[in-house]
Amino acid sequence: MLTELHIGIDDTDSEKGGCTTYTAAVLFQELLGRGFKPSDFPWLVRLNPNIPWKTRGNGALAIHFFIDEEQIEDVHRIAMETVDKTTVASAHGTDPAIAFLKGQVPRALHEYSTRALHDVLSVREARAVARRAGAEVHALMGVRGLIGSLAAIGAGLDFVEHTFEIIAYRISENLGNPRRIDHDSVKLMNSKYGNRTFNNLDSESGRVLVSPHGLDPVLLGIRGYSPNDVLDAFKELQLNEEIERVMIFRTNQGTDAHLGKTRKAVDLKPHQSGALTGRVDDVPRVLRGGHVIFRLRDDSGLIDCAVYRPTGSLAMAARDLLPGDTVRVYGGVRRLREGTPTLNVEKLEVLHMVEKIQQANPMCSSCGGRCESMGRGQGLRCKKCGQRNEYASKIQVRQERHIQSTIYVPPPRARRHLTMPDSKPRNISNEYLRVENFQLRVEDFN
Ligand code: ATP
Repeated sequence: MLTELHIGIDDTDSEKGGCTTYTAAVLFQELLGRGFKPSDFPWLVRLNPNIPWKTRGNGALAIHFFIDEEQIEDVHRIAMETVDKTTVASAHGTDPAIAFLKGQVPRALHEYSTRALHDVLSVREARAVARRAGAEVHALMGVRGLIGSLAAIGAGLDFVEHTFEIIAYRISENLGNPRRIDHDSVKLMNSKYGNRTFNNLDSESGRVLVSPHGLDPVLLGIRGYSPNDVLDAFKELQLNEEIERVMIFRTNQGTDAHLGKTRKAVDLKPHQSGALTGRVDDVPRVLRGGHVIFRLRDDSGLIDCAVYRPTGSLAMAARDLLPGDTVRVYGGVRRLREGTPTLNVEKLEVLHMVEKIQQANPMCSSCGGRCESMGRGQGLRCKKCGQRNEYASKIQVRQERHIQSTIYVPPPRARRHLTMPDSKPRNISNEYLRVENFQLRVEDFN
């Protein structure tokens, strides 16, 4: 009898190389090659981006296949061997793990996965949730990877908001060498497919963003709103090096999934993510280096908010906030500043702006020239015609505010994988590649 088998994988990479997406792609293609039928694209699930022990983007993977009960043991073995073979360990903190779950994914696992986007979870809880959900979990070295491998299975990307990413992997001979992609072809692709794909280029600097820079096997990735979109966009690129394989992932990237939890200032703990609404409590300070710090007050207390210079237009907007403005800030707590948690702002929504009032000397009533003060409590004198008025005083002038009641997001170069792009199209194609026919032959791209 056929059952659906979900396989969650995490933490097979390190700063020395490897990538968990690569492990998942190898395993997916291995099982496909042996004639097993996938029930969905592999999932690339980004979890809480504020976790300090992540290698890069806190990604965990899940793949889903229909398997005959009698072959499940074989598939377990193939999966474990693939994880073992593709793990690039480092001395500290590579904790490859794999989780298996048969049949329907229970609600408790979905809830666990949602919490893994916002909070810091323990291995102990992961083991307890696995037991309750009937999942089998294996840690191949350290145990931390169990959290991500289980959360990947529970992500529910087939029913929650999602996007797609096509990733091309390098051949092993090229690992560590500069990536050779024709940047003009990326720009051309972006001009053609920019409304159906996202984060190809930085909108402020024009920098090409499709490639990472490390020792990992990813040559490039293109993110978009349907499998067809990312595949069509990928075919436009001119690659100047051989590729080993190509895979399309269903993913929660570009969905703001980590920012959905509303928090209170007093409750925020290090490494959590979420959003809170409050009033700006002081005039934002611009630190050396251009980072902006301001305090926000909600009905529970105060929190420091930091908006870093690389966030470009977001940091510029934060500089213009005034005490009394009501804003909703989205982001993650990375550390404590002087005992109070600091929220690293990833997105700023201006809900209400106070008036900006400045004291100014009035114009002269007879000639229209600008008046000046004659000294404290001694009235004003016109600078042009000299007319005096002992009873006149400064007037209040309303200044124009530079920020607007809108949502500010950083430019693509400073976004997290999960950050929602600012220009999401309304009509997203429902014309999907059929996953069961989904064989991307590398010969078609080399
Ligand atoms: P890459 O994106 O290159 O695959 P990474 O940035 O995903 O690497 P990992 O090497 O997977 O980093 O390390 C992240 C570790 O954090 C994993 O062991 C994972 O199980 C764990 N983890 C993920 N989310 C949470 C969470 N919410 N609480 C605690 N631990 C978590």
